[in-house]
Amino acid sequence: MIALNDEQTMVLEMVRRFAREELAERAPEYDKRGEYPWPQLRKMGELGLLGMNTPEAWGGTGLDAVTWALVMEEIAAADPSVAVIFSVTSGLPQYMLLRFGSDEQKEKYLRPLAEGRWIGAFALTEASAGSDPKGLKSTAERVDGGYRLSGVKSWITSGGQAQLYVIMARAPEGITAFLVPAEAEGLSFGEPEEKMGLHAAHTTEVRMDGVFVPEADRLGEEGKGLHYALAGLDSGRLGIAAQAVGIARAAFEIARDYADEREQFGRKIREFQ
Ligand SMILES: Cc1cc2nc3c(=O)[nH]c(=O)nc-3n(C[C@H](O)[C@H](O)[C@H](O)COP(=O)(O)OP(=O)(O)OC[C@H]3O[C@@H](n4cnc5c(N)ncnc54)[C@H](O)[C@@H]3O)c2cc1C
Repeated sequence: MIALNDEQTMVLEMVRRFAREELAERAPEYDKRGEYPWPQLRKMGELGLLGMNTPEAWGGTGLDAVTWALVMEEIAAADPSVAVIFSVTSGLPQYMLLRFGSDEQKEKYLRPLAEGRWIGAFALTEASAGSDPKGLKSTAERVDGGYRLSGVKSWITSGGQAQLYVIMARAPEGITAFLVPAEAEGLSFGEPEEKMGLHAAHTTEVRMDGVFVPEADRLGEEGKGLHYALAGLDSGRLGIAAQAVGIARAAFEIARDYADEREQFGRKIREFQ
């Protein structure tokens, strides 16, 4: 057990209330309809939850990693789809921008993400490049003033919903990360994939058909994109673990409550244990 400080206790109480009142009740309906949970995400933005790891100077709330993991656990216990979207937008694009972005990029892209006005997506995976992303085939051809991106990304969380896509593609010097706004010409999205769960967290293809990205929107150095992406994924793993804990806890609590309510042979079934 870790002892929580006053700030962590306060944040956790606020998030538990929010998760109970705003997420848990709506989660089954959103999941059934496969509807992206914009109202819930907007509320999280207003509460300062979508930019928890980003310093206040860039629009976030600048809380520590332990608080982020505790919040993730609570959100996942109430609505795993919201937790996945939350994990990606705060753990990947914001983390990568904060660590590797220029001040101009932080102002333009990190601030709206951290303030919760935008949702960010991370596009690394391709049909033939999953666990082994260095095999990715999307290209970034150098052109006057920037690059042209072509290729197809698979399984992108918040595809078609996010306002910013951090896309890894192969430039002349190697895999490079690019900051691509949703409205970029030549960028399009597939339909949400059919999954076994997490239906409200849309997962789609992201298609690039000669998308022009100005030099100013290349993240960091050319050829360093895979390193940046893996650094982001490393930080994100903590969030995935916290989600698993939250989901397991919620499953246990639901089963425990049911065992306390269901009767067979004239007794509550938990009494047979
Ligand atoms: C819900 C969801 C959301 C996602 N969101 C995003 C996103 O936002 N952005 C993004 O870029 N990607 C996303 N992905 C893709 C995800 O990152 C990939 O699914 C993941 O990288 C694994 O790739 P794969 O599915 O192709 O599996 P594969 O690489 O084909 O692996 C299949 C199995 O083989 C195992 N395996 C592979 N290599 C080895 C090895 N060397 N040794 C032992 N076992 C091995 C794997 O562990 C796995 O069990 C998402 C996926 C899902 C399901």
